[in-house]
Amino acid sequence: MKFVFYNTLTRKKEELKPLKKDKLDVFVCGPTVYDLSHIGHGRIYVVFDSIVKTFKKNGLRVRYLQNITDVDDKIIDRARLTNKTPKALAREFEKEYLKDMKALKIDSVDIYARASDHIAEIISQIERLLEKGFAYIASSGIYFEVNKFDDYGKLSGQKLEDKFHTERVEHDPEKKNQKDFALWKRSSFDKAQDKKSEPSWPSPWGMGRPGWHIEDTAIAEKYFGQQYDMHGGALDLIFPHHECEIAQIEAISNKKPYVNMWLHGGFLTVRGEKMSKSIGNIIVLRDLLKNYSAESFRLMILQAHYRSPIDYDEDLIKQAEATSERLAEFYERVKQNKRNSSENNHLAEKIKNTRENFWRAVGNDFDTPVAFAILFSFVKDINPLLDNSSLSERETKSVINLLEEINEVFGIIKKRTKQTAPREIKDLAKERELFRKEKRWAEADQTRKQLSELGWVVEDTPQGPKLKRII
Ligand SMILES: [Zn+2]
Repeated sequence: MKFVFYNTLTRKKEELKPLKKDKLDVFVCGPTVYDLSHIGHGRIYVVFDSIVKTFKKNGLRVRYLQNITDVDDKIIDRARLTNKTPKALAREFEKEYLKDMKALKIDSVDIYARASDHIAEIISQIERLLEKGFAYIASSGIYFEVNKFDDYGKLSGQKLEDKFHTERVEHDPEKKNQKDFALWKRSSFDKAQDKKSEPSWPSPWGMGRPGWHIEDTAIAEKYFGQQYDMHGGALDLIFPHHECEIAQIEAISNKKPYVNMWLHGGFLTVRGEKMSKSIGNIIVLRDLLKNYSAESFRLMILQAHYRSPIDYDEDLIKQAEATSERLAEFYERVKQNKRNSSENNHLAEKIKNTRENFWRAVGNDFDTPVAFAILFSFVKDINPLLDNSSLSERETKSVINLLEEINEVFGIIKKRTKQTAPREIKDLAKERELFRKEKRWAEADQTRKQLSELGWVVEDTPQGPKLKRII
């Protein structure tokens, strides 16, 4: 299968060509573990889980690596607020993160790597940057000198003379350029901070801790080397985070490009606004999963293109939940269909085309909205066949195979234990039964119509009336 992606670095769609035959190294920025994951994090990790599973399904031997940022100012600040040690806090939220990922059926990550377990690799990279003259020592720590790296800005399109304000850039009069970023932060300099609660490690420059960007390149170099296939994350990581990563490792290795394919996922806003503590509109992933299934969440995410923005409101997840249920219902119906002995539907060609078109859309910059539209139209075409007659054994099997193949990668079909109609539907069905018993046919018919408008049909079986969802 051919894969084309929009590459942030080259700003065009390109075919993915693995550096090593049939192998693919993928790095996605993991969480900074100081709080619970929200649905925006969930979006990114669902997208990359599905992308990696698509690669694996196609026979690529993927190594999917994610770093865990367990050393960071945000962690230190939060720990101070909650009277915990930064390490205890980081471990706690790392555990919660992994729980959330499991709940979302994200199980494609091969290696999770903590920053704190890679201090030696980080120090080695900083030493090499100092040797090569790309870094300098200040009282507060070691900085990367952006003026020395000609390609700085090539990923984001930022120019050094542009003014930019960003998170996690330290101000320091000793810096040669305020855009220089920290590789190592010396503990002794942080007078304002409580030493006991600040994690630190010995280094050739005294006790201290790594800067954020160097974690990723140190971890990636250990597992993947100095060049690899794909790096992903959310849009807001392009600058400065990924820009700085490129500067660090290309300065060390002198090999370009550091990563062949840069993928960035779109933002998720909530009713038009960015999620933030001050607005109070953060939707914590596990809260959403109390009311909605992982499959509906995944479907909601994947019904949008991974680079497009998603504006969340509850209707969106409700629609996805209904669609996921309908897919599950369809899957059940196919499994239970009577199996005709004759093959009078001539479905082989249709199934083959659907499969091809579906995966072709996925291969084209991971266009899941188009792929799912192909799937839904297939479901719509097959459904009446299940009502009117039935499929042959072979047709049944290939429809089931197709659905399972898609579901293995995307995890969008909700598992159904049994068909449960909401209370109002059940009440209406009871009412209709009563009308029928009393031979009030017009009213019984009226109720049946009402039910069908709400998406349900009553089937009279020898065991009594049964409610089914209309697909
Ligand atoms: Zn990162």
